[in-house]
Amino acid sequence: MQPTLESMKSEVLHWMSSKPFFTNKEIQSLNTIDLGFLRRNSTQKHGVCRFHKGTDVHSATLGPNDVKCIDLHPHLLTEDWQEYGKTVLYHEFIHALGNFAHDANFRRLEGCWEKEISDAGKTFTELMRRENATWLWVCSSCEKEYPRRKKGAGKYRCRNCNVILKDIKFNQSTV
Ligand SMILES: [Zn+2]
Ligand SMILES: [Zn+2]
Repeated sequence: MQPTLESMKSEVLHWMSSKPFFTNKEIQSLNTIDLGFLRRNSTQKHGVCRFHKGTDVHSATLGPNDVKCIDLHPHLLTEDWQEYGKTVLYHEFIHALGNFAHDANFRRLEGCWEKEISDAGKTFTELMRRENATWLWVCSSCEKEYPRRKKGAGKYRCRNCNVILKDIKFNQSTV
């Protein structure tokens, strides 16, 4: 079934409410946060927690009431990506609870998510780059392709071979 922002939210909050380190009050206030979408052409950013203008993000009382909205990449609402999408939403919920920085405490909470999806973020970035690419930077040695929006213009090297990458105009219809 096609997930929705609401179904994803309730699954993540349901999981969080089963953990001893989140209070009912926290869960309830997270539940009132508005969810929305990032632009489709967002490649590296998969979710964002936006605080109200003028919020002191380093305040000790930073919390869900300071959050304007949480936006997720629209492509996360697909069957293939919903599991990763839930981890992105969980990540943004941790920010919304007042953890502005990715510090040790943040990482500890984030690490509690049970599913092993450590490479999913990178794979998702590559997929979105391909959808939004107009150029492929291609390695003439190993043939690895790096889909990008701009020309590499001879400035980038293959991660595997250290060979300078060549620009090829990307034809979306061949994918
Ligand atoms: Zn973050
Ligand atoms: Zn190469």
